[in-house]
Amino acid sequence: MQGSIIIVGAGITGLAAAEWLRRDGWTTTLIDPVHPGSSEQTSYGNAGLLARASIMPVASASLVRKAPAMLLNPESPLYLRWSYLPRLLPWLIPFYRNLSPDRVAPISQALSQITFDTNEQHLALARGTPAERHICSGSLVTLFQNRDEYESDTLTIETRKRYGLVPATLTREELMERDPNLGPQYGFGTVFEDYKWLSSPADYMADLFGFHLSEGGSFRQGRVSDMTPGSRPSVTLEGGEILTADKIVLTAGVWSGPLAKKLGIRMRLVAERGYHVVLKNPAFTAPQPYMVTDAKIVLTPMQDALRGAGVVEFAGIDAPPAKAPVDLITAAIKRVYPDLEIGETESWMGRRPTTPDSLPVVGEASGAVNILHAYGGQHIGLTIGPKLGRIVADLAAGRRPNMDLWAYSVDRF
Ligand SMILES: Cc1cc2nc3c(=O)[nH]c(=O)nc-3n(C[C@H](O)[C@H](O)[C@H](O)COP(=O)(O)OP(=O)(O)OC[C@H]3O[C@@H](n4cnc5c(N)ncnc54)[C@H](O)[C@@H]3O)c2cc1C
Repeated sequence: MQGSIIIVGAGITGLAAAEWLRRDGWTTTLIDPVHPGSSEQTSYGNAGLLARASIMPVASASLVRKAPAMLLNPESPLYLRWSYLPRLLPWLIPFYRNLSPDRVAPISQALSQITFDTNEQHLALARGTPAERHICSGSLVTLFQNRDEYESDTLTIETRKRYGLVPATLTREELMERDPNLGPQYGFGTVFEDYKWLSSPADYMADLFGFHLSEGGSFRQGRVSDMTPGSRPSVTLEGGEILTADKIVLTAGVWSGPLAKKLGIRMRLVAERGYHVVLKNPAFTAPQPYMVTDAKIVLTPMQDALRGAGVVEFAGIDAPPAKAPVDLITAAIKRVYPDLEIGETESWMGRRPTTPDSLPVVGEASGAVNILHAYGGQHIGLTIGPKLGRIVADLAAGRRPNMDLWAYSVDRF
């Protein structure tokens, strides 16, 4: 028996941490205002990719050069609510510093270390639980207008090559053989085989949660408003109730920023908001997920649905969703599938927790003992959630994980 542990936030990171901790002998209590699988979580509405090839930092110098023009173009997938800019600056300044070419290599190395075994990490978590059935296997095809568009991004090609991530290429004819419905815009593609995605991130979460409870994990519905470190750390719930445990884990996604602040930690975390549009029961669907480069969306075949997900919007955590990103994703789906009838749709907005260096945070902060942090999964939070959860279980038990955690330090900002 290891003792008692409270996990604050039950998205993929918190749920995976709770389950690995339970398997390790801890008495776990997950706290969250919503149930895992609810649409308020970012883990609900993502594109479902276990993105083992996503090792590039969130933004490149070339993208940032294009950013001013993109922000003024309503048809580009980058949005900023200008009134939010002053609050974004403390994140934007260190973000810009991480664009220099000498930062790309160490960031990609740290991303590769945390993404490369995502398939095995998800299977280790879900195998033998009802969640396993939601893991799909196939390939990932990236769509380009032409070969030049692909070959011009030499930084991505060369960086990925270093980690053995070299996709095969597909001509227009080969793309059409795989998918005769594909629109005329896409003349070239790349393909990663042995790729996994989820047929329903929400059901995956709900099934993992059901399993966790059935095996003895417990859940407390509520919102944590404060945290106190120490030999017997505690959390305060909205309403004033105080709960103590031997250890506490903070896994509240983008909402971890304000809670870390209560511990005196200057956490640089923003909501990189994204959207999805789901077409329910489409007349036809994609043979595998597509990364659609011109619109920066992913199109994923899901259970009874086709989901387009992506775009980046900076507007703060609480601003209401906008309409333009939904229209942009819908138009992008139409470009990929001009003959697909857009019938019943559902749209959603979620908040990727993103640090200025694109790397997650995992570990204990100096001066705030017995509180472990794990968040900052940006565009790959679903991919790395189970691995972050496993690292948390190692750290809680005092085991040294078999990897260098320096790049993910809580104190680095
Ligand atoms: C459009 C889009 C597409 C994406 N596609 C992919 C993809 O294909 N692959 C991929 O790997 N990633 C993808 N992502 C990113 C991924 O979804 C996130 O990085 C990931 O879900 C974050 O998980 P989390 O557990 O850290 O946070 P969340 O899932 O947001 O969970 C945080 C939890 O903390 C709870 N919480 C908040 N405040 C408190 C509090 N005070 N007390 C207690 N609990 C609290 C919340 O209610 C919530 O349940 C995508 C994201 C978006 C927006």
